Amino acid sequence: MPADPIDYAALDEAADCNYWEYDPTLRGVAERLYPESELDWARDRLSAFGEVCGTTIAHNADLVDQNPPELHTYDDYGEVQNHVEYHPKQFENERLTYGEFGLSHDVFHAPEDRDGPLGMGHALLMQTLLSYADQGFTCPASMTVGAALVLEKFDDGPLEEFFQQLTTDDYDEHIEGAMFLTEKQGGSDVGANETRAEPADPETVSDDAPEDAEVYRLYGEKWFCSNIDGQGALALARTPDADEGTAGLSLFLVPHEVDSEPNGQVYRRLKDKLGTLSVPTGEIEFEGAEAYLVGEEERGFKYMAEMMNYERLSNAAASVSAIGRTLLAAKVRAADREAFGNVLEEYPLMRRDLVEMTVDYEAAAAFTFEAARLLDVQEREGDDSDAYRLMRLLIPIAKYRTARMAVDGTSYAMEILGGNGYVSGFVTERFFRDAQVLPIWEGPSNVLSLDVLRALEREQAAESLLPYVQDRLDAVEHPHLEPLAEEVRSAFADLQQGLATLAGEDGDYAQYHAKKLADLVFDVVTGALLLEQAQDDIESGDGRRALVAEGFVNTRFRDESRAIDEGERFAMTDQVFDAVARYASVDPAELVTAPEPTADD
Ligand SMILES: Cc1cc2nc3c(=O)[nH]c(=O)nc-3n(C[C@H](O)[C@H](O)[C@H](O)COP(=O)(O)OP(=O)(O)OC[C@H]3O[C@@H](n4cnc5c(N)ncnc54)[C@H](O)[C@@H]3O)c2cc1C
Repeated sequence: MPADPIDYAALDEAADCNYWEYDPTLRGVAERLYPESELDWARDRLSAFGEVCGTTIAHNADLVDQNPPELHTYDDYGEVQNHVEYHPKQFENERLTYGEFGLSHDVFHAPEDRDGPLGMGHALLMQTLLSYADQGFTCPASMTVGAALVLEKFDDGPLEEFFQQLTTDDYDEHIEGAMFLTEKQGGSDVGANETRAEPADPETVSDDAPEDAEVYRLYGEKWFCSNIDGQGALALARTPDADEGTAGLSLFLVPHEVDSEPNGQVYRRLKDKLGTLSVPTGEIEFEGAEAYLVGEEERGFKYMAEMMNYERLSNAAASVSAIGRTLLAAKVRAADREAFGNVLEEYPLMRRDLVEMTVDYEAAAAFTFEAARLLDVQEREGDDSDAYRLMRLLIPIAKYRTARMAVDGTSYAMEILGGNGYVSGFVTERFFRDAQVLPIWEGPSNVLSLDVLRALEREQAAESLLPYVQDRLDAVEHPHLEPLAEEVRSAFADLQQGLATLAGEDGDYAQYHAKKLADLVFDVVTGALLLEQAQDDIESGDGRRALVAEGFVNTRFRDESRAIDEGERFAMTDQVFDAVARYASVDPAELVTAPEPTADD
């Protein structure tokens, strides 16, 4: 059925609404992400979760942000207790997320009314809705899924009970994951990790230790530990005589407590952070903490890379929702607020802002969830598939680009809310603070761009990328889309030229250009994806995404300095504003017949 433009004036703010129903971009993403057999089930689940996120969880998140977790390292008698005190509303958010909506359950076990578990893309889309409400809480939620993923793949039995607790939808039994990599001397440079793991004296092992686990004791410190008291935390450490660098690292599960007592570690302090206050991030000193080896010794970095892929995609999903939630706030404000006698959204410059921000949002979501889809496909097809090589290339780019877009997007949405947007209590203030961490944790932009070079070199990712882009551009047939595809083809030729040049240059030169290369891959792949999807939508009777693709090509590939001379009025028209920013359907026939408006219109 054709969609009417969304009436954002019907809302007072970007809360007390269903985030799923108010977000046709995410609904469009789901159409491509899920296999046909899962789609109806997933839609109902996402809609119900979108309602809870837009009401209870969003309001609880405001309260938790104003009353963040506090650490009580010692009890009144000076004994270490490592107690983190949470606002009670945090527990309600956890019960809803893990218990009622099975966020870490449904991708590992069949939900009650289904035959099998869903793909990882489902957890990522659920996390996107959760991050619409609480960017901080998404961090432990995502690490819970990530830790379970590692145990499912690499533990051959001893840690089964932890896996079951991480993935249960019985909230009373549920535990959360965490990942402790960073030390003072190295966050990106994980190979510099110094934390030691000594085999434990069997006489001293706790009653809680799993029967067949290889038990060690950890000594050293970790400098940034989010969800510090996660009972299912994974940490990298070096066993005696292990190699230097990443090759010598092993992975351990380090519980927060054993035998209901603190586990040989001291939570030194929580970081006094700018944002994501709902998740406690702190420093840990290991003083012989009981730890269980995951898989085999000295394979920890490989195992952790599996979790990092998921966490980086989670970061991209959180970036998508940082843009989505604050854009919703901006649209509500622009539809409600009058200035100089008109509502803001009537003014050409504001229309342009909202159209361009929506196009950016569509681009971030399309790229992120294409990488998520590939994550699921490569799981079925294995390491020697195009999906694997593409996933390795696209995930670091998704994380890098969407995080920077989220910083810009939340900042500009704040500006659209005017002075209020800067004030505590308005969603833009919290999300602006929260978004600043998105480019930093899970790897900063430079480090991710260097990972892109590794994917090209070690996985030969370009061999899979080139036909992938070509196929999508070849699918474009509609006359409105053809000239747009030409622009993307030209950038695609530049990308191929760039790849050929880098292949013949030294490593320093490649590093110097790595971020620009990542930008170009993002723009070309996103352009090709949006055009392919626009063609599909046209065939199903809707031309809206053709306008989204046009907006993307205009801002990424066309020379904007000449646009003033050339009478460019794309976002001024009612058709484009209603279609792109307010998600109204467009009859494909209007795409070809409507000429570009001129100054005389
Ligand atoms: C709120 C918060 C929570 C966190 N939670 C966790 C957690 O739970 N677990 C965990 O393990 N870590 C966590 N971290 C740490 C985080 O992952 C690291 O801070 C991050 O990976 C960067 O590492 P670093 O701080 O050592 O910076 P560095 O690696 O020193 O990087 C500093 C700068 O140098 C650049 N750079 C580094 N290497 C190169 C290079 N070769 N070429 C060019 N530029 C380079 C980077 O891009 C960056 O801009 C958290 C951090 C924050 C802020």
